[in-house]
Amino acid sequence: MSGQARPRVYVAGHRGLVGSALVRRLEREPVRLVTRPRAELDLEDPVAVRRFFEDERPDQVYLAAAKVGGIWANATYPADFIRNNLLVTLNVLEAARETGVAKLLYLGSSCIYPKMAPQPIPEEALLAGPLEPTNEPYAIAKIAGISLCRSYNRQYGTNFVSVMPTNLYGPGDNFDLATSHVLPALLRKVHEAKVTGAPTVTVWGSGTPRREFLHVDDLADACVHLMRVHDGSELVNIGCGDDIAIADLARLVADVVGYHGALVFDASKPDGTPRKLLDVRRLAALGWSARIPLREGIAGTYQWFLRHAQGTG
Ligand code: GDP
Repeated sequence: MSGQARPRVYVAGHRGLVGSALVRRLEREPVRLVTRPRAELDLEDPVAVRRFFEDERPDQVYLAAAKVGGIWANATYPADFIRNNLLVTLNVLEAARETGVAKLLYLGSSCIYPKMAPQPIPEEALLAGPLEPTNEPYAIAKIAGISLCRSYNRQYGTNFVSVMPTNLYGPGDNFDLATSHVLPALLRKVHEAKVTGAPTVTVWGSGTPRREFLHVDDLADACVHLMRVHDGSELVNIGCGDDIAIADLARLVADVVGYHGALVFDASKPDGTPRKLLDVRRLAALGWSARIPLREGIAGTYQWFLRHAQGTG
């Protein structure tokens, strides 16, 4: 980069779990960061998005703005999930093309893969079977985003790269019990049980589904790496390559928090997809692997929760 102007890098969704981790990571790179709070730029508004791109002229874009949520939120607000994610993706990709953005990284999600995909899930599983119904509207919006990136690349010669992160967690996570994913939900529930001296903590579902968890700082590092080394329409999964049963995750969280009560499983709540582990061989071949061990990541996230999120939600 020496001798050249530092690239202007726009992170869309910089206040979110992923976007804030990208900002932390990119602050260590020789780039000029561009961000806009939601109150100043409504990404659902195509005219505002276009104007913003014309004014700021980013060279690179990380599209991390998304309406996301856990199993309950997806079941309760399905129209919001599909509509917002489609609109934001349509607006940002079109503005990026119109203003000549050199490279864009689009963040999808592992829920784009079929419910019964082979495990670990290879990138080729995309569109090879029916989706998990609990988050189908969100998944379809994300799949449309991948198809948009590929279609723009084909028709316009853009360089819009799609990456598929596994379940993420870390500082900045959503700890609201109604809308959060399982890891922050368990951290909060176990913490509150410890504080109040409750004898049990309720875990949704059977405890047998397996999920992979990647620390969001690892994800941000992978994204910056892929922005550097990967071009074009080939999807890349981003995961740590390892999964854990929800019951074992709950035990690990209890251990980190220092809670000695019992876990109770509430079978009236949905399990969702039985297993979700990404095949990360393509990512490994591109020279990246995860570094943050799950226990260490959970401990750091618990510290963040104690400082920032306790008492909210
Ligand atoms: P998913 O990965 O899209 O299914 O989303 P979640 O992170 O919401 O749920 C993952 C798994 O954890 C599901 O089997 C849930 O039933 C289970 N789970 C157990 N306890 C909780 C909880 O307190 N909150 C959430 N969101 N999920 C939980």
